[in-house]
Order: sequence, then structure tokens, then C-alpha cells
Amino acid sequence: MQIIQDLSLSQLENIIIEMGEPKYRAKQIFENIYNGKNINNISNIPNDLKQKLKQLFIDEPVKIYTVQESHDGTQKFAYELFDGNIVEGVLMRYKHGNTLCVSCQVGCRMGCKFCASTLGGLVRNLTAGEILAQVLTVNAMLGGTAKKRQITNIVMMGSGEPLDNFENVAQFLKLVTSKDGINFSPRNISVSTCGIVPNIDKLAELGLPVILTISLHAPNDFIRKQIMPIANSYSIKQLIEASKRYFEKTGRRVVFEYALTDGINNTDECAKQLSKLIKGFPNHINLIPLNEVNERNLKSVTKKSCQHFANLLERYGMSVTIRRTMADDIDGACGQLRNKIINENKI
Ligand code: SAH
Repeated sequence: MQIIQDLSLSQLENIIIEMGEPKYRAKQIFENIYNGKNINNISNIPNDLKQKLKQLFIDEPVKIYTVQESHDGTQKFAYELFDGNIVEGVLMRYKHGNTLCVSCQVGCRMGCKFCASTLGGLVRNLTAGEILAQVLTVNAMLGGTAKKRQITNIVMMGSGEPLDNFENVAQFLKLVTSKDGINFSPRNISVSTCGIVPNIDKLAELGLPVILTISLHAPNDFIRKQIMPIANSYSIKQLIEASKRYFEKTGRRVVFEYALTDGINNTDECAKQLSKLIKGFPNHINLIPLNEVNERNLKSVTKKSCQHFANLLERYGMSVTIRRTMADDIDGACGQLRNKIINENKI
């Protein structure tokens, strides 16, 4: 069985022609799928074609399984995939639009010490269509269509490491920015990575100037190795050089994520080292007070300490914001909701 959302319009046209159907049917089906419809709900194709399609394709590859709503309006979804696996998504509502956070893997194998997604390791990669279907499903849930989008921004900050599933993520980026489909601007898409250096260069080569977000979380290799195993494979120096190359190639300033963790990376010396490390090319630092995860014994910082760290960085001339902690009442941290559902189902 295949997933329709994995296909480009021309790939679907080839399949439709092979089925002995007129080519224009492909466009009709494609438009309906991008409007968030299932094969079953497509009203402008004949029933026998629907039946044929249902034998070839998984009809609803990403189903909304649960929705939790936070006091701040943020919604957190658990999606069920065709094989019963669960991944998460978060919809954040801002004045300027709606941002959807998408997952690209079931679980993760990067092993970051603060992250809930990686607790059970990597289960499997998502296909491009499974990532795309998250966008199409929530867009339709909000009353949007391909032409009248309700989702304005996409961030690849759900479960999984995008650059550890490079081919599928690259295909997803091509599909979601295609004029045939939902026509997202790459400028409104962020790809977040723990820093798989060679694939940062591959991402730059795609010719889609998405925002590169680096989960840095430490100002030197010594601290980074304590919390992020990937630091044993690529040094901070290599990572910063790759970020500079990304900027040179795409013209996009790079965003560095820095989750403040008490007693680990929040000293004044850390702020000084961080500013020295990334000075000299266009970038932005996003400070996040660590979202505490039950299974991990890392501690977050106070608001005051977070502000102090931000002030220091500003004094050193850095561009910095503190990310609003959203949805901490609904298991907002990466992987928390999925783990909860898995644990509840075990009982
Ligand atoms: N694998 C990718 C994207 C997934 S996580 C990456 O590493 O960037 C999205 C962001 O949330 C990353 O910056 C990640 O480091 C951060 N994150 C994960 N768990 C967190 C937690 N408990 N508190 C704060 N940020 C967290």
C-alpha cells in the first residue's frame, strides 16, 4: 500500500494513466487530498475509481487521535499512523498566524538528555507524505484549504531529527512548497536540527531557503557532550562553520536554540562563551527555559535567571529572544504526550 500524500502531481498522473483513467482525474484527486479530504470524501470522482484508489492507497495515513488544549490556546495533537504508531503535533496561535509543529520520526535516536522523544529510541522514519499529511489534516481541521491556508508557518520541531531522515524530509519540503499543492513559502518553514553537519550542507543545496534552527544548548564541547551525544560526532566548531556556510548559501540568518538548564548551561561565563562563539554572522538566539520532563532529572531555570542570561547576551551585542513557554500544562515538551499515551495503553 502506498500513501497518496507521498506523490507529486506528475507521479499521481502516471499512476492514474496506468489505471486506464483520464489524466485530469489526478488533478481532481490531488486537489481534494490537499484540501484535507480522504479518498472516501472526494465528491467529484466516480465511486468505482474511489474503490480502485482505496485498494492502492492508505486512505487516511494520519488520523487525529487526541487533542489537548492549553489555557493559552495551544493545541497538542496525537496522530495515529496507519501502523498504529503515534506521533505528536502542536498548533500555536499567534497574532500573525498559526504555526504547526510537525514530527518527522516515530521516536528519535539522537539521545539528547533533556528530550522525551528519544526515551524509547527510534521506531521508524516518517515518509514525506506522512509529514505532509499532518499539515493537510490540521489545515482542514481549521477550515483551511490548499488555496486558503489556515496554517502560516511550519516548524520541524516535533519528534524526530529531520536531518536523520534527510531524503523524506527533503521530499516533504519539495511537496509542501510546490505550486501544484499547498504552495508554502520556504521562508515560513523552520528545520530544526541537533547538528548533523554533512546534512546541513545537503539542506543548503536543496535550493529551498528554509530557516535553519540549530539546537545548540551549550557554548562549548565539554558541556554539549554532557547533554547531546551528537556532540561526540561533530564539534561545535564544525557546527558553527556549517551554520555560516548555510547562511552564505541561502541568505537566511541561522537561529540557535538554547534550552536553559539550571547548573548546566546558565552561568554568566556560558553567556560570554556563547556570544563569542557565534559572533560575526547573522544569527539569532532563542532562549527556552527547559521544559522539565518527568523521566529526566534536569532542572529548569527561573524567569529571572532566564532574563538575566538574555540581558547578558544583549549586552554582548547578540540578537536574542526568550521563547514563550507554551502548553506546559499539556505535556508541551517534545515527546511527552506520545510517551503518556504509550504508558497509559500499557496499563
Ligand atoms: N531533533 C530536532 C528537532 C526536535 S526537538 C532538534 O534537535 O532540533 C525541537 C526543539 O525542542 C529542539 O531545540 C530541542 O532541543 C528542544 N527540546 C527538546 N526537549 C526539550 C525540553 N524538555 N525543554 C526544552 N526544549 C526541548
